[in-house]
Amino acid sequence: MARILVIEDERALRDVVAYNLRRAGYEVLEASTAAEGLALVRGTRPDLVLLDLMLPDLSGTEVCKAVRADSSLAHVRIIMLTARSEEVDRIVGFELGADDYVTKPFSVRELVLRVGAVLRRGAEPSVSPELRLGPLVLDAERHRVTVDGKEVALTALEFRLLHTLLQRQGRVQTRERLLEDVWGMRGDITTRTVDTHVKRLREKLGEAGKLIETVRGVGYRIVESVEAA
Ligand code: CA
Repeated sequence: MARILVIEDERALRDVVAYNLRRAGYEVLEASTAAEGLALVRGTRPDLVLLDLMLPDLSGTEVCKAVRADSSLAHVRIIMLTARSEEVDRIVGFELGADDYVTKPFSVRELVLRVGAVLRRGAEPSVSPELRLGPLVLDAERHRVTVDGKEVALTALEFRLLHTLLQRQGRVQTRERLLEDVWGMRGDITTRTVDTHVKRLREKLGEAGKLIETVRGVGYRIVESVEAA
């Protein structure tokens, strides 16, 4: 269950937000001042903070800055609650690393949906789907390979082979290892299969094919950097 901290000094608003978040299945903590809120963020490490911009002691932007300055709280998502007139502060909020904002007055239903969306977004891995080596770019998400910006049509198997080599840049991969990881089996097909596919992959990549080196008697490796090729 995700834990949410609501930092809001307006009691009635805080109550209705907390009530609805609890009903949506979240664990909810409440604070009415920035100081109290910061102590709770550090002490309970919530998944998400709903942060009012206008608090009696410090501004919400100060709280946001303090949370973002602490690398042990990097997982904490922040949604700013702002009033309509606070356009400038709203942008400042994003520069400070807030994940989203909701403008007052808001519908509580919409706020609960927004909380769900930000939590889901936070759960996605943030690793770049793109692998680059000199003229070669592999976009894992789009399943696309380009050399010097020109798309190269690869079969699913060739794509997996190149992807595997690129993820292990500079490290020799034995034919057996490649068979296991790319073809997903061992023993049944011969290691010669690997040679055939590497040959075809090199041809398709043209100049960039040279980046895949043969390590005699062992297997293959893609160079660590273009300078080393
Ligand atoms: Ca306020």
